Amino acid sequence: MSKRLQNGADRWGERGSAGVSFAASLTFLNISHAFGAVEALKDVSLDVQSGEILCLLGQSGCGKTTLLRITAGIEVQTSGRLLLNGIEVSGPDRFIPPEERNIGLVFQDYALFPHLNVLKNVTFGLRKLPPDEARKAAMTALSRVGLDHYTDKYPHMLSGGQQQRVALARAIAPRPAVLLMDEPFSGLDNNLRDKVRAETLAVLRETRTTSIFVTHDPEEAMRVADRIALLREGHLIQVGTPDDLYRKPADMETAKFFGQVNVLTGTVESGYVKTPLGRFPAPHFSNGENVDVCIRPQGVMTDSRGNGLEGRVISRQFLGELDLLELAVEGLDVPLIARLPAEASPRERDVGIRFEESAVLVFPRKDAIS
Ligand code: ATP
Repeated sequence: MSKRLQNGADRWGERGSAGVSFAASLTFLNISHAFGAVEALKDVSLDVQSGEILCLLGQSGCGKTTLLRITAGIEVQTSGRLLLNGIEVSGPDRFIPPEERNIGLVFQDYALFPHLNVLKNVTFGLRKLPPDEARKAAMTALSRVGLDHYTDKYPHMLSGGQQQRVALARAIAPRPAVLLMDEPFSGLDNNLRDKVRAETLAVLRETRTTSIFVTHDPEEAMRVADRIALLREGHLIQVGTPDDLYRKPADMETAKFFGQVNVLTGTVESGYVKTPLGRFPAPHFSNGENVDVCIRPQGVMTDSRGNGLEGRVISRQFLGELDLLELAVEGLDVPLIARLPAEASPRERDVGIRFEESAVLVFPRKDAIS
């Protein structure tokens, strides 16, 4: 990329200048999809509210892209129905083709046309408008992403971040009812990713477009989403706000997906589970039930010796504002992990340990229920 193109290149347009779209709601009803013997989606039902930013989150191969492609109409599900504003766009009796759905797409690799300049890339999706109006709409979108001075440049002359901004301008220029984004920032390096993500989010908020955003990164999903839909092996596991999924995960695997956890096992007696770290409430389990106890490292607190459970600091990793401690506790085979703000981190080796109640989660033991 030339020096000239770099100057002022990360400046975005004025917030609030993108215009507003007529957002639509989406309803997925019992969507299943198979590629031959591979069942990519299994009976997924989900509502996306108008104007909402929903993240489809899950590990590679869980079916995120397939659900996005079905939404766009590029893929047709094996069974189930998809409604846009309550009207079926794909189902047993009806199929509205992609170009008639008013849905915008932003891909991981930007998918710009290499032989068209920036302006033509953006006006491409506006061919139904008279040329003057198409140009005006394209310039509004390009100006919002700060690239209105780049109209005659070609994609290869732009950085990855700039190409992503052109892709966003192209997607929002026709004022789509729904915007679909497939891992849109994964090609960008860390610093740039934060900036492009924050600005993209601002654009989505002000256009009030219903947006479905695919990512495999739980931290990114928590930053971006109004709600997260977690997929695993084609199943929809949980839908909720980032706070719901973090604080009230549906199962142990979900808890682990959102960060490191301490795991203990135990058996329930009279509403409590007894572990080497003490007794924890397990009110919704029956007597004799085998359970897993999950404690987030952020919920492990240390105090002076004699206050709480006895423990010994066996290692300390400095992570900037946080310390990551490994604590030895009698009766526990593996070290207990604690993540403490540096100022709260103990200086002594022998400490007392306590647990923040909300950081302790109890789940049915997986091998006990399978
Ligand atoms: P990633 O994050 O790696 O893109 P994903 O969660 O988006 O993964 P999908 O791309 O939707 O997952 O794939 C779901 C499953 O369907 C995977 O097992 C994948 O191998 C399979 N699959 C996807 N597309 C096809 C295809 N065209 N033909 C055959 N199998 C496919």
